[in-house]
Amino acid sequence: MITRVVKQNENNIDSSVMAEAGRIIKDGGLVAFPTETVYGLGGDALNPESSKKIYAAKGRPSDNPLIVHIYRFEDLRRIVKNVPEKAQKIMDAFWPGPLTIVFEKTDEVPYETTGGLDTVAVRFPIHPTAMAFIEAAGGFVAAPSANLSGRPSPTLAEYVIEDMDSRIEMIIDGGDIPIGLESTIVDVTGEIPMILRPGFVTKEMLEEVVGEVSVDPTILDVNCTARPKAPGMRYRHYAPKADLMIVRGDEDRVADEIRRLLSAAKAEGKRTGVICTDETIGKFDADVVRSAGSRADMSSVGASLYRILREFDDENVEVAFSESFDGDGFCMAIMNRLVKAAGHRILEV
Ligand code: AMP
Ligand code: MG
Repeated sequence: MITRVVKQNENNIDSSVMAEAGRIIKDGGLVAFPTETVYGLGGDALNPESSKKIYAAKGRPSDNPLIVHIYRFEDLRRIVKNVPEKAQKIMDAFWPGPLTIVFEKTDEVPYETTGGLDTVAVRFPIHPTAMAFIEAAGGFVAAPSANLSGRPSPTLAEYVIEDMDSRIEMIIDGGDIPIGLESTIVDVTGEIPMILRPGFVTKEMLEEVVGEVSVDPTILDVNCTARPKAPGMRYRHYAPKADLMIVRGDEDRVADEIRRLLSAAKAEGKRTGVICTDETIGKFDADVVRSAGSRADMSSVGASLYRILREFDDENVEVAFSESFDGDGFCMAIMNRLVKAAGHRILEV
């Protein structure tokens, strides 16, 4: 299959490109598109054959459900059985935006899309290109991240091309992605809303709107072996080829320890990498040293994490060390992805 790559400026959307992308989806094909979180790999959410194709293109296990993307509130009722009061409040506050909500599904949503579950995860993105594309595609686009299973989610069209070329009909290149980590997922089917995947919309932000919010305990405890409630969270996503270790503790001690570990790795002849920050970038000497951004602006760290992991792969980094990003708010999302990328290896100093 030949994959067409088309550039789209979100401030000047080309309706003929959107019409063509929409036609591909309605005909059962696949199109990758930009959103505010990461690039998505879209297919018709109400067509079971399309969902099967998404799993095949990604090499993703088919028990890992897809998120259904909509572009207007009116369409929600067709795919969800009921909208609990707390869900309504959350939607009013954060939709459109980087937040996915899990509801009970209607019969219109095939089990192929929900990985056999009776619930459906729904997202209403705010990215103008995503919205125009979903509308052109008929209103219901199933989309996981547009990476091969096991690779970091793509934050640049180049990475989508790397993973999806010749596997799908079209890639819409929307340039840089602002957030860079996947949406927050919150399950509203129980009494207390539960975060199944942390993201840009934080626990604190949700609690301001609906009161108590819980977090799937498997997200918080790095040593936890219980089964996460979002099926996708149990796979080892976001895995770089390098052996990555997080070093956590006081800033100076972390830098000392990373330098010591780098010397040991170099002595073994390994290619080395470091993920640090603007504040510490001068302290390290490795083959690939990358600042994820400033500690004064955690959103910059979230936006560059996946790009750095891909760069390590491209540079054939074999052993890498990262500073830790502990704290409230968006840090929970950053650490959740970083801990997975590190295969849960954290060194306390
Ligand atoms: P991705 O599209 O790559 O961001 O992955 C989708 C994520 O949403 C995976 O972690 C899924 O397990 C999760 N998800 C999708 N649908 C549901 C659902 N009905 N219940 C719980 N988690 C879901
Ligand atoms: Mg993904």
